[in-house]
Amino acid sequence: MARGGEDQILIPEVVPISFSADVKNEMAGLLPARPCCQLSELLGIYFGARGRLLRRPGDGRAAYFSLLRNAVARKVVRLGRAVGQMEAKYQAVKTKKRMTFFIELSLPPGLEGAFTQSAAAAMPDAACDRKAMLRGLFLGCGSVNAPSTRYHLEYVAPAPSWAATIRRLLEDAGVTAGVTERAGQEVVYVKDGDGIVRLLSLMGASRAVMEFENVRVVRSVSGEVNRRLNFETANISKTIGSGLRQASAIERLESSGRLERLPKALKEMARWRLANPELNLSELAVRMKLSKSAVNHRLRRLLELSEQVVQPHDHVRRSA
Ligand SMILES: [Zn+2]
Repeated sequence: MARGGEDQILIPEVVPISFSADVKNEMAGLLPARPCCQLSELLGIYFGARGRLLRRPGDGRAAYFSLLRNAVARKVVRLGRAVGQMEAKYQAVKTKKRMTFFIELSLPPGLEGAFTQSAAAAMPDAACDRKAMLRGLFLGCGSVNAPSTRYHLEYVAPAPSWAATIRRLLEDAGVTAGVTERAGQEVVYVKDGDGIVRLLSLMGASRAVMEFENVRVVRSVSGEVNRRLNFETANISKTIGSGLRQASAIERLESSGRLERLPKALKEMARWRLANPELNLSELAVRMKLSKSAVNHRLRRLLELSEQVVQPHDHVRRSA
């Protein structure tokens, strides 16, 4: 039930402390069904979060993750289990201000290669895996602004080679991305609302997409209201503008003495216009109980006549 009853447009009353965190929590709750997608997402998190490969006692290797979100850490454990029954060591450490979650996944010998490949080689071929990798990368190094602020989604590339790969993944998915440098790191960003919505839905963040769409509806509605207000304001000033112009023309006729000598219909028109410079033609016509075209015709006639009145300062201005 909508709070407040009849209000159907949902404007978020409280901007979440971190929209990004909400989006990541939502994505962390998804587990792809296919092993190919599971591995791609795990690799996305691993590379995005700058994971490292550890040598284990004996000759095994382990993928080592240092993560800031518990939901993502738990997802790494689940993915590892799903992909290859990987054994996981999990440790939560409270540092100065935040919690950090350390995960160590023992890699089966066949999978070590996947964790040591270059960014270009890590880019999957299948569309399902590209999506999964984009989601993993987002969980590892991505963030998105709340839709109520400016549209901005970004990946802080773990290495320059990854900036190129992330950008290609995005553009292959039909999302226009830019790359910029910030504090020595390459950042791949998406700035248009459509691109962000497309990417979020590609990554399966449907709650986030809904929130975006709600805000976009509100924005386009208020945009429409603003456009209409501007249009009306423009029309009002046009009416006032022409009304004042006519009134001053009539004043010139009057001060030159010519108004007195005009037919009764024009004199009456002049009186009405002088008294009501803010009315538009239809409003004047209604009050005078005349047709709009009659009013229009008489006002034009008054303007024409006033142009024949040459006043001293006009003369000077024209010859200057
Ligand atoms: Zn797949």
